[in-house]
Amino acid sequence: MDEKNKQLAELIGQSKNTVFFGGAGVSTESGIPDFRSETGLYAARKVYGYPPETLLSHSLFIEKPSLFFRYYKENLVFRDVKPNAAHIALARLEKQGLLQAVITQNVDGLHQAAGSENVLELHGSNWRHYCLDCKAEYSLEYTLQPVNCRDEVVPVCEKCGGIVRPDIVLYEESLDGRVLSAATEAIEAAGLLIVGGTSLAVYPAAGLLRYFGGKNLALINKSETPYDGDAQLVIHDAIGKVLEEVCCLLAQEGRAVV
Ligand code: ZN
Repeated sequence: MDEKNKQLAELIGQSKNTVFFGGAGVSTESGIPDFRSETGLYAARKVYGYPPETLLSHSLFIEKPSLFFRYYKENLVFRDVKPNAAHIALARLEKQGLLQAVITQNVDGLHQAAGSENVLELHGSNWRHYCLDCKAEYSLEYTLQPVNCRDEVVPVCEKCGGIVRPDIVLYEESLDGRVLSAATEAIEAAGLLIVGGTSLAVYPAAGLLRYFGGKNLALINKSETPYDGDAQLVIHDAIGKVLEEVCCLLAQEGRAVV
């Protein structure tokens, strides 16, 4: 058993308020590629003619909805994926009262699928959709049926004909104020903040970290991050493996179920 995983289990065991903050790396182990990765960047330019930041921007969504939805549906929607060891471990920790909140930058809903309840989705969720005009809500399934779409790809409202958009935050759009406040409060209140699967290079991850005034910061990421020097514990390993081991260790102490 890795010594650092043991240290993380101890920190979780001692902490009264633990918050997990996760990025794309949490979902890649479920087979969801990071569209911001080099491969994702290259594919976006080659196949769609623009980088992901443009394809997922508010202006492109308004100006070229067909291109937006084609990229979005082919690259951000994964219906058949399942929660991985990281999602499952985090849900178990929450059930045992060892984790107070999960803050995620992912839009795939996998934390909820694993059983986590207090999940703050900074960038929204691609399981929720609404009509731009009459605000009627729609399921992901509805938006994927070509019969409900213009040009077979742009979902339209069956009530008023307006465009139905995913409830995710696009580039050039601001984060949902309520979610952001809740995330800020959770980080401020945390004694232990575990950050995983993010290089912490992009907004809003780095910005939110400034609100943390607790005792212990633990980072789990495959590669180095600019915050490695500020953390009490740094683990460069696969997040699913780390959190699964941590859960096992806590279970041995009777603190968590496996
Ligand atoms: Zn409508």
